[in-house]
Amino acid sequence: MSKKINRDVLWLLSLISVFFGILLISSNSTEVKAQTVNDYIISNKIQPVSIQYREGTFNDWFGYENGVGKPEGVVVHETADYNATAENEVSFFNRDWPRIQSYVHAFVDNNEIINIHSADYGVWGAGPTANNKYIQVELCETHTQDAFARSIANDAYYVAAKLIQYNLPDIPGKTVVSHDQVSKMYHETSHTDPVGFFASMGYSMDQFNDLVITYYNNLKNFGSVYNNTGSNTNAGNNNNSSSSANVLRVNNSNGDYVPIMALRTDGTFARVTNRALMNNTDWQTDKTREYNGVTYRRVATNEWVATTYVV
Ligand SMILES: [Zn+2]
Repeated sequence: MSKKINRDVLWLLSLISVFFGILLISSNSTEVKAQTVNDYIISNKIQPVSIQYREGTFNDWFGYENGVGKPEGVVVHETADYNATAENEVSFFNRDWPRIQSYVHAFVDNNEIINIHSADYGVWGAGPTANNKYIQVELCETHTQDAFARSIANDAYYVAAKLIQYNLPDIPGKTVVSHDQVSKMYHETSHTDPVGFFASMGYSMDQFNDLVITYYNNLKNFGSVYNNTGSNTNAGNNNNSSSSANVLRVNNSNGDYVPIMALRTDGTFARVTNRALMNNTDWQTDKTREYNGVTYRRVATNEWVATTYVV
């Protein structure tokens, strides 16, 4: 238990060092309440990174019980690997899934969100019943307060974005479930993640759900995870598609690839010749721009796709 206390003390000290001005001392002053992880994320407007879509090696393409493209929610996992990054986990699972009989849609850490299997199809992450219902995402472990907060922002963003992409409501315990809840509901696995790791970082599934709901509502209403301007105001000059899905699926029915364009400093677009998007792939988008009567959506720093290719 002294270890636990030491960890709590360290946690408090790190918070105090960063937020010495924001500590709240309760009225009877026997208890010091530190800023929560969610407060830290929101007050610092920690910006989630974009979802990277990389096709993985998992080749068991099965639809959910309601069909292809019809997940019922998202399972939140935690890797239980002290040191592995999302990149490490992606490499490991792409190599070893046939041996370990396990695969998920995405891995998230404090720097990256890597989606390795289309969420239109199921994966092997939590027993057959859950695998036939849910998108599944693994959070990688980090061990500093700031890295943990960043990883949580990324994880919550992934969950919210997928709920929106598949037109699902955000209902904690129903459309957003922990692996722990899945184990208790279906009794096909005994895993309890991410509860223990969350607790070790002073966090809980309830708090995670609070952040997901915040992101979900803001993405739906404003197109970004934080509703007030300031952090994300440089969206293009045509940002009025309020409901705009943040994820585009692109397809070129006349070819194998979807062409992309680069925006030049003079405001014109030029065809990118050494890169294209694969057909039927999903891309995060954040900006819209009109040029010569064509609407373009931005999918990378300077890569734009004409909406004529958006499915
Ligand atoms: Zn799990």
